Amino acid sequence: MLEYQIPEKIRDLVPYEPISGSYRVRLDANESYLNLSETQLQKVFARLEKEVSYNRYPDPMAAKLCNAFAGYYGISPELVTAGNGSDELITLIYGTLFDPTMKVGTFAQDFSMYRVYAQCYGVPTVTLPKREDLTIDVDQTIEQVNALGLSGLVFSNPCNPTGQGLKREEVLRLVQGVKALVILDEAYMDFWDQSLLQEVEQFDNLLILKTCSKAIGLAGIRIGFAITNPKLSRLLKAVKSPYNVNSVSQIYGEELLKEHDYLRQAAQSIREQAVKLEAMLRKLAEQYPKLGQVYPSVTNFVYLKTSESQAIYQGLQKQGVAVRLMGGYLRICAGTEEEQQILKEALDVVLAAL
Ligand SMILES: *Cc1c(COP(=O)(O)O)cnc(C)c1O
Repeated sequence: MLEYQIPEKIRDLVPYEPISGSYRVRLDANESYLNLSETQLQKVFARLEKEVSYNRYPDPMAAKLCNAFAGYYGISPELVTAGNGSDELITLIYGTLFDPTMKVGTFAQDFSMYRVYAQCYGVPTVTLPKREDLTIDVDQTIEQVNALGLSGLVFSNPCNPTGQGLKREEVLRLVQGVKALVILDEAYMDFWDQSLLQEVEQFDNLLILKTCSKAIGLAGIRIGFAITNPKLSRLLKAVKSPYNVNSVSQIYGEELLKEHDYLRQAAQSIREQAVKLEAMLRKLAEQYPKLGQVYPSVTNFVYLKTSESQAIYQGLQKQGVAVRLMGGYLRICAGTEEEQQILKEALDVVLAAL
């Protein structure tokens, strides 16, 4: 009898553990602090009642959802594939567009899941450096991607966790300069204005990822999108599991993506909170140098480098405020005015005691 052996590539992986327990204020997961309104919910509930047959499979192409997405961003629906969160699409991309003979580049620092999923699918990754200030050096990256013979390059812009962004012209230069498929994760681009969605069709080597989990405010509903040229789009639709986005989520996503004015205003007000958050942290850092270095943000969160990360994280936790600890860094997401006030008071207590 052959004994089953867990493959080496996943032997040491552990489950993703977001913080648990109850907190007064949750600023750790980069979500929107805006929940759906009563009116929005009523609209969705009415449609669920009328349209969903729970005994039937959902629309495999999520056509109405993709149309609503395309309508909001002003692109052609044939470029759009929907997924069960962009996380699902990232796994799909590694599992199908790459294989273990190909190498894919990721940056340090960037979204940690890029490397986890690559590992699961046995796709070797090469970690490319960023500059000291955590920005991307485009010329150096082009040189490295081509010299190392990488087949793909995956990165987020604006970047999670650094909060920083690479301008459209720079990203274009990167896409044009590398002999590789660029997976450009624009999860936070609703908070900035340097998207390449409008240009995606012109390239045979560009695939953009979007999500409804951040600015759109539907993290619980699990919807993400891959936007790429028609040829790659057809391929993604061919390799995805047929019913990857459920009927209920399709309706939530479609309804909300039709509310263009609401979505623009929501993104704008969240962004305004992030600007206030960054200013507040900078002021605190002047008062308490131990808060460390605050990176400039174009997103809905702010990244900090501090030798006291652990102590600050735990001190905030004790006061019911959750932020994200990442080694010698902290990532803090924008909240409501009230939540940010609570954060400020909690930080004052923690920093004064250090
Ligand atoms: C949050 C996040 C995602 C995850 O999106 P889901 O659609 O919720 O799976 C993808 N990429 C980046 C960079 C993120 O920060």
